[in-house]
Amino acid sequence: MIDTTKSVKAQPVTCQHCGEEVPQVEGPGRRKLWCTPDAGKQWRRRMRALGFPV
Ligand SMILES: [Zn+2]
Repeated sequence: MIDTTKSVKAQPVTCQHCGEEVPQVEGPGRRKLWCTPDAGKQWRRRMRALGFPV
């Protein structure tokens, strides 16, 4: 059952770059998926190089 009283941001996110939990900022906007913006950029660049449409 989905808890609709909590926003998606209340759920913990693990950085796929270093495995650390990423603290979320309350309020509108997308969830943060990376501990640093650079980690996300590097991941996207790598995925594109492998042919994934990210
Ligand atoms: Zn990280």
